[in-house]
Amino acid sequence: MSLTATLCLASASAVMVLQMRHSAWDQVARTSQNLLEVTETAIDRNIELYDLSLRAVVDGLQNPNIEGIAPDLRHLILFDRSSTANGLGAILALDAQGDVFMDSASQVPRRLRLDDRDFFRIHKQRLDAGLYIGAPTRTQKDGRLVIPFSRRLTYADGTFAGVVVGAMNVSYLDALLQRLSIDPGSSVALFRTDGVMLARNPSNLKGLGENIAGSAHFHHYLEQDAGQFVATAKLDGIERFYTFSHVGSRPLILNVNVAVAAIQAIWWPKAIGISAVVLVLCLGLVGLTLQLQRELERRVHAERVALDANAELARLAATDGLTGLPNRRHFDAVFDQLWQRAERTGERLSLLLIDADRFKSYNDTYGHLAGDEVLKTIARCLERQVSGPHEVACRFGGEEFAVLLIGLAGREVVGRAEDIRQAVARTWIPHRGQDGGFVTVSIGVACLVPGVGMSPHQSFAAADAALYEAKRRGRDCVVCHNGQEQNTDDGVEASRASACQGSLSQAGQR
Ligand code: GH3
Ligand code: MG
Ligand code: MG
Repeated sequence: MSLTATLCLASASAVMVLQMRHSAWDQVARTSQNLLEVTETAIDRNIELYDLSLRAVVDGLQNPNIEGIAPDLRHLILFDRSSTANGLGAILALDAQGDVFMDSASQVPRRLRLDDRDFFRIHKQRLDAGLYIGAPTRTQKDGRLVIPFSRRLTYADGTFAGVVVGAMNVSYLDALLQRLSIDPGSSVALFRTDGVMLARNPSNLKGLGENIAGSAHFHHYLEQDAGQFVATAKLDGIERFYTFSHVGSRPLILNVNVAVAAIQAIWWPKAIGISAVVLVLCLGLVGLTLQLQRELERRVHAERVALDANAELARLAATDGLTGLPNRRHFDAVFDQLWQRAERTGERLSLLLIDADRFKSYNDTYGHLAGDEVLKTIARCLERQVSGPHEVACRFGGEEFAVLLIGLAGREVVGRAEDIRQAVARTWIPHRGQDGGFVTVSIGVACLVPGVGMSPHQSFAAADAALYEAKRRGRDCVVCHNGQEQNTDDGVEASRASACQGSLSQAGQR
């Protein structure tokens, strides 16, 4: 019962803790996703606006009519004001050799050759590079860290005519990411699909431009447009939960990652608290149960001891101390029961009174202790001879014993009495005071069927009379009295008893 309660409590708390863990992860996943979507939209929008400016320059330069327009007007047409917005650098137009021939910052283009830059090489080689986003680089003019955005200039026949390139300040993108409030150990990063890092929160200017394509989990970014996964960063060995998405159709990836430890910190302290409380409750429950069980066991033991003691007392109260046979008290109780039963069933109830012959003389000759031993021996004989389920032998008092038998016919009872007499005689205990020279017993038997108006006393009187007659006839014999006849003048026998005597007197003589 208590084990079940403890298990239920532990299971309920385990389910609660698991739910807390699940909801913490769910909450972080949703927050990361929202953060990612908002940031991605903002970045994509900024790049799109900047790209529109670049496209305007490309389209303008590829328009055959542009040549005929005055330089200042041409400058105004090609470079709209948006390209000079905060965070965006000058837009340059390079010819097929990489020399700057148009500069949004000045009507007189700066003398600059950028044919060694990756964006120039890419556009020269590829017709379909579209908007190319270069690796972060430092400007020659003031050393600012910028990300070049470029588009190809193409002649009508498709040959390479140069590049239009603009620069977006890394600090501008960085500032965009810095505005996001993120937990310690977490980060937001923007990088190219080839792994080159463009911006990061927390800011890591040294890491900008580095390629993270070699990291073990980079393949996730290329396999899907967006997704979430858990991985351990090779750089710092911290396990993080990554949420990523490609920025529109750009070759850019934005990711938000949260340290697993930070997610754990959301639910772990509560889980520890709940587990501790549940543990204390479970221990308390188990402790109480054990205490209760011990108390119950103690009581059961005490009850058993008391019952055993009572049973022993009852046994002792019903047992004769010298011979170990049931005593008179027990005999009386059994006699009443058997009498009632015989009354009910009409069975014959027989009482045997057994008396040691000339026992006073035995005591006088051999001593009282030897007499006690003789009484014990007679008791053992009775135990062996009287062992049926509804038979009882007891010490009646002094050197007298009594036996109750039920359901036996008169002749069978006399036979049993004779067996007892012979069993004692065959112990061959010397007794100088007795005629034969050995310890013997005389047995008076009363056989009667209890009926209306009869009392147990009649049975005793009849057995007593029969015993008296046995003594009178010389002892060491069995005399039976049916107990229902009227006594004759000698106070003992009637015709039936005489019949018993007739048959027994011979058996009773040695
Ligand atoms: P009888 O053959 O007529 O029965 O003669 P008896 O001597 O046996 O009869 P009596 O009634 O005169 O004597 C009984 C004796 O039994 C007297 C007593 O000393 C002895 N006796 C009674 N109880 C005990 C006992 O517990 N131990 C011993 N050793 N003797 C006992
Ligand atoms: Mg006697
Ligand atoms: Mg006697």
